[in-house]
Amino acid sequence: MSFTLAIVGRPNVGKSTLFNRLVGRKLALVDDQPGVTRDLREGDAKIFDLRFTVIDTAGLEDVTDDSLQGRMRRLTERAVDMADVCLFLIDGRVGVTATDEVFADILRKKGARVILGVNKAEGKAADGGAVEAWALGLGEPLRLSAEHGEGIDDLYYILRPIGDEFTERAEADAPLVDIDIPEDEADEEADPEWHKPTHEKPLQIAVIGRPNAGKSTLINKIIGEDRLLTGPEAGITRDAISVKSDWYGTPTRIFDTAGMRKKARISDKLEKMSVSDGLRAVRFAEVIVVLLDVEIPFEQQDLRIADYAETEGRAVVIAVNKWDLEDEKQDKLAQLRESFERLLPQLRGAPLVTVSAKTGRGLDRLHDAIIRAHDIWNRRIPTNRLNTWLGAMTEAHPPPAPGGRRIKLRYMTQVKTRPPGFVVMCSHPDLMQESYKRYLVNGLRDHFDMPGTPIRIMLRGQG
Ligand code: GDP
Ligand code: GDP
Repeated sequence: MSFTLAIVGRPNVGKSTLFNRLVGRKLALVDDQPGVTRDLREGDAKIFDLRFTVIDTAGLEDVTDDSLQGRMRRLTERAVDMADVCLFLIDGRVGVTATDEVFADILRKKGARVILGVNKAEGKAADGGAVEAWALGLGEPLRLSAEHGEGIDDLYYILRPIGDEFTERAEADAPLVDIDIPEDEADEEADPEWHKPTHEKPLQIAVIGRPNAGKSTLINKIIGEDRLLTGPEAGITRDAISVKSDWYGTPTRIFDTAGMRKKARISDKLEKMSVSDGLRAVRFAEVIVVLLDVEIPFEQQDLRIADYAETEGRAVVIAVNKWDLEDEKQDKLAQLRESFERLLPQLRGAPLVTVSAKTGRGLDRLHDAIIRAHDIWNRRIPTNRLNTWLGAMTEAHPPPAPGGRRIKLRYMTQVKTRPPGFVVMCSHPDLMQESYKRYLVNGLRDHFDMPGTPIRIMLRGQG
C-alpha cells in the first residue's frame, strides 16, 4: 500500500513537467478509470525506492478565464480529496500571485497536508519567489526545478516518512499468517554453524558521500586502475553499472551509476558522482560505505546520506577519508567517535574506519569492516535463542503498563535477514512505547553481537 500525492497549482507553474519527471514514461491516462475526469491524470511515481501514486490537475490551460476560478476550485478540491498529501506548486520566477493565494486558501480550508514547492528554482531567478512563498503560511518552501530535476532529492526526504507511515499501517493490518516461521528454520536450529554467512555471491558495495570526499579515488584504489580495462558491465538494470573486483581475495561488485557509465567510454579517472547517483546505487548494494572527509566530517549532507542508507536497511560502514592529512590522529579519532555516537544514534555500533584512499592506508581494515558488516546483516538467529533472550529481557524490565493495561510479550521470531527483521507477538501492540522498542533493539544488538546493522522490530497483536 502506498500513498497518493496530488500536484496542484495554477496553470503554467510546471505541474505537468513535474508529473512527467516523477512518472517517467509509464504514465496512465485516467480517462478509462471510473470516477476520475479527463482533467486529472494519474501515474505511478518513483523517487529512488519510494513508490507512490501521483495525480496532476492537468487540462486547466484550456479553460477560458471566466470559468477558470470555478473549475480550478472544483478540480483542485477533487484532487485534494483523492490524495494523502498535496504538493502545491508556485512559479518561483513570478513569485506569489493572487491566484496562488486562492489555491493556498482552498488547501487550508480543506485541511490538506501540504508541501509547498517553489518551481523553476534553478539558478537564482527564483530566490525572491522562494522568500515570498513563506508568506503563504504553508511552511518551509521547497525549491524545485521540475525541468532540471533539482530538489527531487529533498522531495524524497520529505515524502519518505509519509511512505513509511503507510507501510507501517499496511504491516499493522497484515494478517497473522504472514509471520509463519520460515521453513528452513528447523534445519538452522540443528545447524551449529547457523551464524556463519554464505558467500556464494560477490559482495555488493556502494561508496556514497559528498562531492570531493574521495569516492572516485577510493573506488579506483579498490578495483585497481588497470582492472578497469575489463570494463564496467551493465548491471541488473539500466540504472546501475557495476565493476567486479577481487578485493583482498573477496569477490566484490562495486555499484556506481552515471560515473562508471561514462567511464566505459572515456578517460582513466572515474567521473564524479553526484549525490543522487550515489543514492541510487544504494538500492543495488548490500553494504554502503559512507565516505566522510576528515577535514569536514559529519556535515548535514553526510548525516542525511548515512540516514538514507540506514532507512534503506543496508549495512553501513563509516569511512573517514584523507586520514593522511591529519596530524593529531589520536585526538581526532576520539572526536570523530563522539560525533558519530551523538549524530547518528540509529547506526549505533557501526564500524568507523579511517582510511587514505590516496595512499591506500587503512583499506585492509575497511575491507574487514565491510565483510563483518555484511555478515551481521545476513545473520539469522534461531527462534529458541530469541525467546530465551526475550524472556530474560522482559523479566529484567517488563514493558510499561500504560493506563494500567499490561503489555505482554509472548513470542518472537526472526522473519527476515538483510537486514535482520523480527516480529514480536504481544498484547496491545499499539500501546507499546518507542523507548521499549529501542530497549529491545539495543538489547538484540548487544546480546547477539549485531552492531551497526539496521534492526527492524515489528509488533503484532494476536487474534
Ligand atoms: P502546468 O500548466 O502547471 O502543468 O505547467 P507545465 O508543466 O506545462 O509548465 C509550464 C511551463 O513552464 C513550460 O514551458 C515548462 O517548460 C516550464 N517549466 C516547468 N518546469 C520548469 C522549471 O523547473 N524551470 C523552468 N525554467 N521552466 C519550467
Ligand atoms: P569524489 O568527488 O568523492 O569522487 O572525490 P575524488 O575522488 O575526486 O577526490 C576529491 C579530491 O580529494 C581529489 O583532489 C583527490 O585527490 C583528493 N583525495 C581523495 N582521497 C584522498 C586522500 O585519502 N588523501 C588526500 N590527501 N586527498 C585525497
